[in-house]
This record gives sequence, C-alpha cells and structure tokens, in this order.
Amino acid sequence: MEKRILGKTGIEVSILGLGGFHMLEISKELVSQLVDIYLDHGGNYIETAAEYGDGESEKKLSYAIKNRRNDVVLVSKCHIRDREGARKFVERTLRNLKTDHLDILFLHHVTMQEDVDVLLKRPSALDYVFEAKEKGMIRAIGVSFHGLPDYALKLLKAQELDVAMTGFNYYDRFNFPSIFEEFLPYARSKNMGIVGMKAVADGYLYRSTEDAFRYALSQDIDIMVAGTNSKEILLKDISIVDNFKPMSKKSMENLYFRAPELNSYVCRQCNKCLPCPEGINIPKIFEYEGWYDRQMRDYKPHEAPDYALRERLAFWFGNQNEAKEAYKSMDKNYTDCTNCGLCEERCPYDLQVIDKLRLVHFKLANGDIF
Ligand code: SF4
Ligand code: SF4
Repeated sequence: MEKRILGKTGIEVSILGLGGFHMLEISKELVSQLVDIYLDHGGNYIETAAEYGDGESEKKLSYAIKNRRNDVVLVSKCHIRDREGARKFVERTLRNLKTDHLDILFLHHVTMQEDVDVLLKRPSALDYVFEAKEKGMIRAIGVSFHGLPDYALKLLKAQELDVAMTGFNYYDRFNFPSIFEEFLPYARSKNMGIVGMKAVADGYLYRSTEDAFRYALSQDIDIMVAGTNSKEILLKDISIVDNFKPMSKKSMENLYFRAPELNSYVCRQCNKCLPCPEGINIPKIFEYEGWYDRQMRDYKPHEAPDYALRERLAFWFGNQNEAKEAYKSMDKNYTDCTNCGLCEERCPYDLQVIDKLRLVHFKLANGDIF
C-alpha cells in the first residue's frame, strides 16, 4: 500500500487508515482478524478514541495488536478539555491499549467556540498533552473536528499543532467549502500532517465508494481513515486504495455533474448564477443551508432508506445556529428576489434556484418545515 509522510511529524503512514469506531459493533476476535488483514496488506495506521464505547474500542484494539504494536502507528483521541481530566483519560487510554506511548493523540471534536475558549484558557488539556509529549508518551499532537472548520482554525492560529483531522468528500465539499479553501491551505502552510475521514460522507455516498475514495485521496491530504465491521468492506477498501490513481481536475468536475447524491439540488458553489440583479449572494445562501442540514432536506420524494439516511445525517455536525446567524446578517435574501429567472438560466446544474432560495428562507429565517 502506498505510504506518505505525515507532514512535520515525519511519521510514514499508509494512505488507508483503519478507524476504530465500528470496532464497537463486532467481537474482539473479528477486530483481530480485520487488523491482521489490514496490516498484512501494508496498512500501518490504526485509530480509535477514548470516547468510542467509553474505552471499549481501545480495549478491543489492544487485543488485536498485542503481538504487533511495533507494526502500528497507533492513534487515539481525547475529548476532555481540562488538564487533570486529560491526564486521567490519556493514562486510561494507554492502559486500555496496553502501550507506553501513542504515536498521535488528537484533541477530539473541536467544533464549538466553547472548545477553543476552554482549551486556550491555560492551564488546560493543551498543557497536559505537551507535557506528555516531552515525556515521550505522545509523539505528535493533533486536532480533529467535523463540520465548520472555524473553531479548529482559531485554535491552530493560537497554538501550533502537528496534525489535523477532518472530513473530505465530494458531497460536504459544497457544504463546508472553507475546509478545502481556508483550513487545508493554512494547515499545510504550517507543514501539518492531514488525516482525512468521512470519504463516503458517513455512508451517504454508499452508491459511489470508489469515486468517493479516489476523490478524497486526490485532495492535499496524507491519509484517509475508514472504519469497517466486515472483512468484505475492508478488502474492498484496500483494493480501491491499492489501485488508486489521482483524479484530475477535469474528472472531479465531471463527478460534480454526474454524482447522484449531488443531482439537481446541491449547489456546487460555482458562482455562475451571479451577478443577481438584486444583489442576492445565491451561492453563499446555499452554503449556509449546507451548514444547517448539509442540503439533505430537499423536500422531494425519496425511497425510504434514502430518506432515513438523510434524516439521520442532516444535522450530524450541529452548525445550525451558525447557519441561522450568518443568514440573518445578510443584506439581501429570498425576500428581495423578483423571480427574474436569470440565475436558473445560468446554473449549469439545473438547480431550481428560486424554489431552493424559498426553502432555505423557511429553514434559516422562519424555522424548518416538516
Ligand atoms: S430570480 Fe431572484 S435570485 Fe435569481 S437572479 Fe433573479 S432576482 Fe436574483
Ligand atoms: S450556478 Fe447553480 S450550482 Fe453554481 S453557484 Fe449558482 S446555484 Fe450554485
């Protein structure tokens, strides 16, 4: 399996990482078999979190790697923000994993202003993780988050870290474009290692896993982590990654046109509908809809499984307040639209822009409709 250097950490990692969340769903014996398959195919990065099953994932993983610790870049995450709490949790993680050090520890889901405030009000978990790094208990320190990157970015501007982890997929590319346009370039300018996750958008891109992996690994990232609870899925992921060839810009644009999940509802942020004669910033409004519900509630009929998946995932990232506040602060919105139709004529993806603006206005200004 192809390997890359994880930014300034200098750690060499396989481009497919094995995630630990789904280890909760299976026996420790099956976890052990999956780990062996993954390592035997050249993988070397395995990641879990203290929070997954309150340490259960870590315990199952320790059973699986008991004879192979040195073959693994071993990673866990700590969600505790105060110094003493972080110490207890990291020590518990080391006991659970039966190891004396972690290769990477992530400060887990930094997704709200409060996370940044508490971490930067020293002493905090930051002080503990740097002390642990000094003592050799942690080789590299990272930050992980979902959804809006603003808070993780604030943290990194105040405190340099080694690695960042977040989602990269061709669906949320259009809901959280600032991950690609602001966060990633900033992190790379600091030579941080970049760990990707959610290549298939929490399962939403299940029809197109090959495209999804290929797209994610073609971004400026070092590794894509995927969890699994079956040998079949793991072997499929390995085979996709083993045959990986970077996607050209043209192929990506082609994917934006043909992806069934994007269809004629998700705004591709191409700006081709602009300028609106009334000065409405159409793509920005649809970006805020992405923050709100990932543009999943389109109020069109869907097959039951698709509908259920959308309902489960739409509010996964919790940026609804930010979306409403941002929409409220706009000078112009749907209420200024004169129905001139220019935007719909210009949209290459055939979005029914006026109807969508109306829906977003209901979601972000009037309260969602059911
Ligand atoms: S239809 Fe409305 S949003 Fe579209 S260009 Fe005309 S005024 Fe702007
Ligand atoms: S042209 Fe269509 S896809 Fe492009 S930004 Fe405007 S609404 Fe979105």
